[in-house]
Amino acid sequence: MPRLYDSCKRILVTGGAGFLGSHLVDRLLKQGHEVLCVDNLFTGTKRNIEHLHGHARFEFMRHDVTFPLFVEVDEIYNLACRASPIHYQHDPVQTTKTSVHGAINMLGLAKRLKCRILQASTSEVYGDPAVHPQTEDYWGHVNPIGPRSCYDEGKRCAETLFFDYHHQLGLEIKVARIFNTYGPRMHPADGRVVSNFIVQALKNAPITLYGDGEQTRSFCYVDDLIDGLIRLMDSPAAFTGPVNLGNPGEFTMRELAELILAETGSASPIVTLPLPQDDPRQRQPDISLAKARLGWAPRIALREGLKPTADYFRTLLAGNVAAEGGRSSYFPAQN
Ligand code: NAD
Ligand code: UDP
Ligand code: UDP
Repeated sequence: MPRLYDSCKRILVTGGAGFLGSHLVDRLLKQGHEVLCVDNLFTGTKRNIEHLHGHARFEFMRHDVTFPLFVEVDEIYNLACRASPIHYQHDPVQTTKTSVHGAINMLGLAKRLKCRILQASTSEVYGDPAVHPQTEDYWGHVNPIGPRSCYDEGKRCAETLFFDYHHQLGLEIKVARIFNTYGPRMHPADGRVVSNFIVQALKNAPITLYGDGEQTRSFCYVDDLIDGLIRLMDSPAAFTGPVNLGNPGEFTMRELAELILAETGSASPIVTLPLPQDDPRQRQPDISLAKARLGWAPRIALREGLKPTADYFRTLLAGNVAAEGGRSSYFPAQN
């Protein structure tokens, strides 16, 4: 229920100590809101929110969203979930529980508070897509019993829950299907391709290209993504999504490796390793809906976004993280 005495909102960000969550927290604080960051620190780190210690409008609560949560807020961004294949496959049962039980608890909270709730869904709901680029009306091509299923099916079930709470109980929901996003504060041991390649390049270690390297992904810089999430949350109630948020620029993993080698000036050799099971062959968002309904499109090209990302990892590897953690944006703010 909106508060009557204050124009600033109290906003819950689950997964707020993670890569995307911590950038979202920074942006919401900059907008003048109060932020409650809830995270169990599975893959997130205190380093990402260390610069907010003592901030008058920021609170951190260590909590696992698979358990009920009783707090008072005006809006909820539900981002809590391990997002990198190595981490979500490490404990697949917990991954599904986080998406499904976590969604139920956060939806139950939103229902009690009669507040708006946004779900960080994923392009993985499209699986290994037979439609290219992916539009929101494509139902996907997902293996229900493979190594990626805990993440893909968990996120699909969370979407189902969001829409059922909306249809059955009239809850105001927003569902963002996020495509691969990169930038400062990715965890160096996260296993995702951009962080892996940059860290390997900076150490002059072999770049680990999986398969023939011809599989594609489309990479969105974190600042653009955060702008899209906030625009979605602030969009008219009738617009629920699901809506794709990502950068349509599509690259093969070999092209990405070469871009990173050029950016870092590294002498690393590229070595090929087996392609993980069910690794999607191609991925590119169709963002027509986000453009039309949110007036949103990414502004930062991959080549441009790799610079601050590489700078971040350079500083991190040099052991000077605290300074870097506080730097939330390298590009002029959008809102
Ligand atoms: P991340 O791993 O950096 O952040 C996830 C955060 O959630 C971490 O801080 C982790 O500790 C926390 N968390 C995990 N399980 C939890 C639980 N049970 N209870 C409380 N906290 C928990 O990953 P990210 O890239 O920042 O992803 C954030 C969200 O965006 C995730 O839901 C992810 O599925 C989604 N997403 C991200 C991408 C991407 O490319 N980064 C793409 C698609 C979707
Ligand atoms: N829930 C929560 N915080 C709240 C309200 C509910 O964590 O403030 C949890 C609650 O534990 C329940 C879940 O959300 O398991 C779903 O709540 P809902 O009211 O939809 O279902 P019910 O309680 O009827 O099972
Ligand atoms: N990948 C790679 N080398 C790595 C890590 C990943 O070639 O060290 C590939 C991976 O096989 C996939 C792509 O890069 O085709 C993106 O992988 P990531 O784990 O970042 O994201 P997702 O597969 O979930 O899109």
